[in-house]
Amino acid sequence: MTTPSCSLCAGPAVYLDRVTGEHLCGVHLAARVEEVFRSTFRGPGGLSANERVAVAFSGGKDSSVLLHLLATVAAPELGLSLVALTIDEGIDRYREETVRAARALAARLGVEHRIVGFGDACGASLDDLVAGRAARACTICGILRRRLLQQAARDLGADRLATGHCLDDEAESIVMNWLRGDLYRSAGVRPAGGAGMVPRTKPLARLLEKEVVLYGILHDLAPTLPECPYARHALRSGVRGMVHRAEHRWPGTMARVVAGQVALENRLRGQLPPARFTTCPACGEPVLGESCRACALLGRALENH
Ligand SMILES: [Zn+2]
Ligand SMILES: [Zn+2]
Repeated sequence: MTTPSCSLCAGPAVYLDRVTGEHLCGVHLAARVEEVFRSTFRGPGGLSANERVAVAFSGGKDSSVLLHLLATVAAPELGLSLVALTIDEGIDRYREETVRAARALAARLGVEHRIVGFGDACGASLDDLVAGRAARACTICGILRRRLLQQAARDLGADRLATGHCLDDEAESIVMNWLRGDLYRSAGVRPAGGAGMVPRTKPLARLLEKEVVLYGILHDLAPTLPECPYARHALRSGVRGMVHRAEHRWPGTMARVVAGQVALENRLRGQLPPARFTTCPACGEPVLGESCRACALLGRALENH
């Protein structure tokens, strides 16, 4: 079997775009990824000149590519100041290695790096918080991790919080909302922002995860790290298989799911009452809706002890 050639040059192809049928070599795949990344961070909800950008940086492959692209493409073009944030959840035999990889990459890119421990901020490690309820670990971790990222981004004076969500994550989240019957989220009645909330931005949201991963391999950014031991319990891992099978069978499915959601949100904008932030009386943080999920979790976790 011969390797197909790149559709744009004579080089050997490393990637097949299954939507367009185009074969791309490493150079042209990287150029494509950077072009899509650039049009996303320069588009609506993206980044502006001279902003201070906090980067949610777990040290895994997606956030490593995000940090690399922000540091090498976006920061020089827009004069951004970056600070990478790694949340150390305290997951035994998993986090030590990823934190080490995160530290090394931030140093290599010359990006300021902060590590925030669950223990310091929540009074307990994730392992302790989820003891006896591993099936909910990803939900618990997600709520607390988002809270810690928000707090740290605000404390560091960031204008934006960038996360490494790719197209796969976006499509999965939309399907997860359907499967949970969460029409409130499906309708996308999200507040534009609120007091004390650092607005989020997702510069990889139009790239397939396989494009992000391949870009990472081509730039020596793909550390082989252990998988989080809790991931297999999550609804997301089931949905992931489903969405990926659909994408494989009908290329372009993920982009269509996301485009459909955007069209729905645009259609409903102004027709539903906007969600509002209130201030949690216990922790003083802005929360969406009536109750503070972080305080509820930590309260419940403390009762267990
Ligand atoms: Zn090429
Ligand atoms: Zn609270």
